[in-house]
Amino acid sequence: MSDALYPGSFDPVTLGHLDLIARGAALFGRVVVAVADNPRKKAVFTAKERVAMLRRHTRRHRNVKVVSFSGLVVDYATSHGISVLLRGVRTTSDFEFEYQMALTNRSLAPGVETVFMMPSAEYAFLSSTLIKDVVGNGGDASRWVPKDVERALAKRLRR
Ligand code: ADP
Repeated sequence: MSDALYPGSFDPVTLGHLDLIARGAALFGRVVVAVADNPRKKAVFTAKERVAMLRRHTRRHRNVKVVSFSGLVVDYATSHGISVLLRGVRTTSDFEFEYQMALTNRSLAPGVETVFMMPSAEYAFLSSTLIKDVVGNGGDASRWVPKDVERALAKRLRR
């Protein structure tokens, strides 16, 4: 079974991401969750914090590893011998961007294939951005993120 690289910002991890990781872990030999450490993208949590949250919530999968990376996703994949990129598609609005990115990545690294998976329907509309809006404005996001993640977000955003 191939290994898959699941890259993203994960700022912060949501139940949608965790749903996708569980689906990937059942399908691939190993899923390497790669947290983008991109100083140009303003994040609420540092890459180190995002990695720690993901590790806490993926501990039950023996074939899931969480790392952080900077630079091109395809460079990380090829230098670690991984030939599958795993991405989630939620709604049709994701599709165009994901399609563009997959073809760009294929052009950069022809040996690397992108595989899309869909989350469970209850998470199909979920995004880290929306959750930050909800929590930042005092709303309850406990059905979309793990409890400790919600607490950490509230602490950071409601200062
Ligand atoms: P990015 O900064 O690359 O958009 P995200 O952290 O938002 O990263 O998402 C990482 C990956 O997880 C992307 O492929 C995204 O489509 C997918 N994803 C995000 N939220 C969900 C969700 N609710 N269900 C399924 N996939 C998701």
